[in-house]
Amino acid sequence: MKEEVKEIPVRVALRCRPLVPKEIGEGCQEEVFNTAVAPLIKGIFKGYNATVLAYGQTGSGKTYSMGGAYRANQEDEPTIGVIPRVIQLLFKEMEEKRDSEFTLRVSYLEIYNEEILDLLCSSCEKASQIHIREDPKAGIKTVGLTEKTVSVASDMVSCLEQGNNARTVAATAMNSQSSRSHAIFTVFIRQRKKTDKSSSFHSKLCLVDLAGSERQKKTKAEGDRLREGININRGLLCLGNVISALGDGKKGSFVPYRDSKLTRLLQDSLGGNSHTLMIACVSPADSSLEETLNTLRYADRAR
Ligand code: ADP
Ligand code: MG
Repeated sequence: MKEEVKEIPVRVALRCRPLVPKEIGEGCQEEVFNTAVAPLIKGIFKGYNATVLAYGQTGSGKTYSMGGAYRANQEDEPTIGVIPRVIQLLFKEMEEKRDSEFTLRVSYLEIYNEEILDLLCSSCEKASQIHIREDPKAGIKTVGLTEKTVSVASDMVSCLEQGNNARTVAATAMNSQSSRSHAIFTVFIRQRKKTDKSSSFHSKLCLVDLAGSERQKKTKAEGDRLREGININRGLLCLGNVISALGDGKKGSFVPYRDSKLTRLLQDSLGGNSHTLMIACVSPADSSLEETLNTLRYADRAR
């Protein structure tokens, strides 16, 4: 016994407790929104695109944080998540800009197995034919995807709810599909000065709940499941490659957007004219330690 103690003179144990009521009261969860998300929304009105990505293993709180679990009549303010808060802030900002007028459109899609599913179309075929096109002027376009024009905040919240419900239905039918798919809630904004209607500009806001980042267990991955695993890893892997290519900062260096549907769709939302926030979500459980470290490493690489 004595010798063992000698070998490791100092041991460190890390324990993370949940928030206590006083901290929740002080708005400790709100801080992420106010310091990291709100500035992106302000940038939109200056013509920048904005992207928020939630990254982490399944069960780490990505969907909860983004508002993908949001349902109507949810009164509990601190827990409503990024998307409902963004909607509140967007409409507040627009109200204050009385010299401008705005046109807003919303789409909500899921990428599963490198296929795009329309979460705002209840009558669409499961694997409906949605194609990604690149328009020299308008940027990345999704042909065949529902885009709803909204004029008030409650319409946009309804789109979120409709998509969330569609996602849940699919998840139940397909054995927790949601943990293996990426969900993208997009808001297209056109802004014009009332006095000069030719001065319009466009910006795009993408709010992304990424697939679970956990390693696929080799023994379980067979057939369809294996293909699934490979495709999902393709999206997250490509995202990592795109982010590090952008981080290299060398002008004209190749950015491999085209290697997955996820990065292709986010091509004009990452880098260039876009501000991006990655929210790394981790579990407090020690049994998740290894995945927590992987998430922090991925996030560190993205800085
Ligand atoms: P993921 O989308 O990453 O798989 P979820 O968002 O579904 O994870 O979260 C997993 C569970 O943890 C859910 O039951 C969710 O309600 C709960 N949860 C996540 N984040 C929080 C939080 N900040 N506060 C309270 N509960 C949370
Ligand atoms: Mg989820």
